[in-house]
Amino acid sequence: MKRSAAASLTILAGVILVVASSASVLLGASAFTIYGLVVQAGMYVGGLLIAVGVYVHLQSMSTAPGVPVNTLCPQCGKSNLQTNKFCDKCGTRLSTERF
Ligand SMILES: [Zn+2]
Repeated sequence: MKRSAAASLTILAGVILVVASSASVLLGASAFTIYGLVVQAGMYVGGLLIAVGVYVHLQSMSTAPGVPVNTLCPQCGKSNLQTNKFCDKCGTRLSTERF
């Protein structure tokens, strides 16, 4: 939760940077002045921040802790621990896709 909040802040900062830089360009900042270069750098950094923020956000979503992945028995449908080789209920051999 804390991690995704930090990711959201990173995205927000990136968006602000890009918007501010774009506004500066629209207001007439020339690409050939130091100010223009700073504005361009701001756009790149802002885009990078957005990309990093989205990446971290997706990562924190896909690795939700405390959720065990179970294997369903093909015979009786019972939910078994992924580490089980045989069904707890009927003894049927579970997924052998990897063998
Ligand atoms: Zn079973």
